Amino acid sequence: MLPILQSGVIRFLSAFLVCSSLAAQLDSGTRQLSHDILKQLIEINTTDSSGDNTAAARAMAKRLLDAGFPAADVTVLVPADRPNKGNVVVRLHGAPGGTLKPILLIGHLDVVEALRADWTTDPFQLVEKDGYFYGRGTQDMKSQDVAMLTTFIRFRKEGYTPPRDLILALTSDEEGGTANGVDWLLRNHRSLIDAEFVLNGDAGGVNTEKGKPIDVEIAATEKLYADFQLTVTNPGGHSSLPVPDNAIYRLADALGRLEHAPFPFELNPVTRAYFEKLSTHETPRNAADMKAMLRTPPDAAAIARLSEDPHYNSLIHTTCVATRLNAGHANNALPQTAQAIVNCRILPGHSPEEVRQDLVRKLADPRVAVRYIDSNTGKTEDVAPGQPGLEPSTPRSDVVRAMERVADVMWPGAPVVVDMETGASDSKYTMAAGMPSFGVGELAVDHDDVRAHGKDERVRVDSFYQCVDFFYRYLKALAPAR
Ligand SMILES: [Zn+2]
Repeated sequence: MLPILQSGVIRFLSAFLVCSSLAAQLDSGTRQLSHDILKQLIEINTTDSSGDNTAAARAMAKRLLDAGFPAADVTVLVPADRPNKGNVVVRLHGAPGGTLKPILLIGHLDVVEALRADWTTDPFQLVEKDGYFYGRGTQDMKSQDVAMLTTFIRFRKEGYTPPRDLILALTSDEEGGTANGVDWLLRNHRSLIDAEFVLNGDAGGVNTEKGKPIDVEIAATEKLYADFQLTVTNPGGHSSLPVPDNAIYRLADALGRLEHAPFPFELNPVTRAYFEKLSTHETPRNAADMKAMLRTPPDAAAIARLSEDPHYNSLIHTTCVATRLNAGHANNALPQTAQAIVNCRILPGHSPEEVRQDLVRKLADPRVAVRYIDSNTGKTEDVAPGQPGLEPSTPRSDVVRAMERVADVMWPGAPVVVDMETGASDSKYTMAAGMPSFGVGELAVDHDDVRAHGKDERVRVDSFYQCVDFFYRYLKALAPAR
């Protein structure tokens, strides 16, 4: 124990010293520029309900043009029928005569809704307080957008010519809405963003505990997103004459059964390798449980203990959870309708229809109708798509090795782990389009301070500047030596 602790302390101290010196290496001009762009971007509301993604895309385009990018290489693209759903694409040209296909970087400009009344600060103002930047999008994902954009601007200013074209697309409607920018660009402007592979700033990340790096993650696969609508209908009646058959009780009972019927434990090549690696760095108890879980047959008690951690739980199970409830029409009437939304995150290899049928079995009441909600159209369907999420493929070694080199300097001692994103991102579109996609949004966030989509979203000030520094170092590290 003791030697491990000691080396942990030394690693921590050296990490601290290296981080401090790294922070100093980000020149003051870049610091100021990235801060200003972050402030500008946070303060442009890009929610689906009242925001304007096109305004954000144009503002970012202006930053690029001001930095000297030729107008021909900066394109704002707006769907004709969706004037608020603009996207911006910029290309930094590689060495002439190069034969390598481009690398595409993607990030979404839109953010989840945020109510001023729920927040301590104004979600659409960048507020610096107690070592944090507060604002909607500071974690998901305007910080990473700014880090990628600032990197392109730095490359341009220093006249850096990468060995191949680098393309950055900042897009609309990842979080919601019906005008997903990546999907739209792939359908309408494929040549503008066609690439050998994709780096997505919206996945991956540096996992920290009280600021201390635990691991540096590359997302090589992700779960599939699916919403289901549960409905119970009933003739209703006067509430002074209750009858045993009540739509609300029926739905509530079915949801109770769902709560206590988790989906089966399952690993895939990416999550298995993830836990194998993590088991060499984790606390002794967790490490022992991970090793027991990886054995054949897996240890059920170990799985149960690990499943108490929401992150581990989500990596080893498809999850379905009730997120909304709506029932009844008057205080003095028996409910004629009771409805719930159940949100599922499906492991690769399984389809939404397979999960819909699992839900029907788990709810165990033929009177509870289970319909799929198409998140693109908002329409409900009796049958869900039968196409399973793509099975993980082997990650590119250049993507992983470059990360290891950069992480060694920026987050020494923290292992690089290739893992599965438990949410879903725009990588589903680029992967489906045949471009291998990797989440490399290395923004350091404490594992117990994940506030993406929540209130008082924030990021450590140091983490933000580190992320700005990271993309610069990483894209250079990815370039093969010439
Ligand atoms: Zn996101």
